[in-house]
Amino acid sequence: MSQTQNNLLGLPQSELLEFFEGIEEKNYRAKQLMQWIYAKGVYDFNLMTNFNFNLREYLNENCTLGFDDSNRTDFSKDGTVKWLIEKQDQQIIETVFIPEESRGTLCISSQIGCLIDCPFCATGHQGFNRNLKAHEIIGQILVAKESLGPEKRITNVVFMGMGEPLANYPEVIKSIKILNDPQGFNISRRRITVSTSGLVPQLHKLGDEVGVALAISLHAPTNKLRDELVPINRKHPIEDLLDACWLYARKQNLKTVTFEYTMLKGVNDSKEDARELVRLLRGKPAKINLIPFNTFPGVKFESTEAKKINEFRNILLESGIMTITRKTRGEDIQAACGQLSGSVRNLAKKTLREKLKKQMH
Ligand code: SAH
Ligand code: SF4
Repeated sequence: MSQTQNNLLGLPQSELLEFFEGIEEKNYRAKQLMQWIYAKGVYDFNLMTNFNFNLREYLNENCTLGFDDSNRTDFSKDGTVKWLIEKQDQQIIETVFIPEESRGTLCISSQIGCLIDCPFCATGHQGFNRNLKAHEIIGQILVAKESLGPEKRITNVVFMGMGEPLANYPEVIKSIKILNDPQGFNISRRRITVSTSGLVPQLHKLGDEVGVALAISLHAPTNKLRDELVPINRKHPIEDLLDACWLYARKQNLKTVTFEYTMLKGVNDSKEDARELVRLLRGKPAKINLIPFNTFPGVKFESTEAKKINEFRNILLESGIMTITRKTRGEDIQAACGQLSGSVRNLAKKTLREKLKKQMH
């Protein structure tokens, strides 16, 4: 099945309505189609018995509901599952399921590679190939759902896999709408998290459009250090980023914004760094997730040791800032935060990469 045909998987309900209107079909067809896909797991138009013959023929000839299957599934001893999904252009993206007592979180990718180029991230090291289309984002959830079966429910979805979700804004928004739709995956907005390195203009738009939960990759308390660790900071410095976060929280009535802080030994983990963080976040609707650095081949960073992470955390806690240390999951299958590398044919070769970076920074 060609996936370049009109792939209806990537269309939110409003666009499905337009599509059916455009072919002079009743608009209840949009809901019917979504029921087949999301409630019944049927992707073959021929099996959609409440569609008449002509409609099924039309859909067969002009549309698809295709998604790439996973060509490898890895199971961690802690219950984490990772799927490697190969695209038709031979790129491989990764999707991870993290089971916990009261929830099941799916971590999905939004791009093949990433241009932001944070030096401590395996995806960044791979370079960048392209954005994923909405049907490829939705496809990851369908692959996971089919593979996990009915017992292991996906209750939360986080855009924390490969890529910078806000650099692929239109496709990510479409997929959020499908995730959120009662006829789609029916996952409430607060159970969908977008993690971003801090694309401020898109962050403002996100707050106006969908208001999902927000995680910000902060990783440094000063612009000088953040310019190095999260290079998009050169374009959107910490002050602008935080202003956008507080506005987002106010508009969307969010109790807290989560700030991710990967603990890098001797780089961002001193007591002074902790105190700087307090100065930035005290009294704000903020929660901090300290993430032990997860290593990967060819990287020069090391993780701060557990005892020092605890001391860092205590400084934040004593100042009244909610702080947790994120448990590392799925390390034995290279599925932990920042370890997803997939297989990316880097198109951002030197000149293009420089050009794109200039636009961004
Ligand atoms: N691009 C988005 C989402 C993907 S990464 C973003 O940067 O927010 C999810 C989180 O893992 C981010 O906070 C990211 O900075 C962090 N991370 C990246 N590499 C890591 C590593 N090697 N160890 C621990 N955390 C890492
Ligand atoms: Fe991209 Fe996020 Fe990795 Fe930075 S941490 S390179 S933004 S995926």
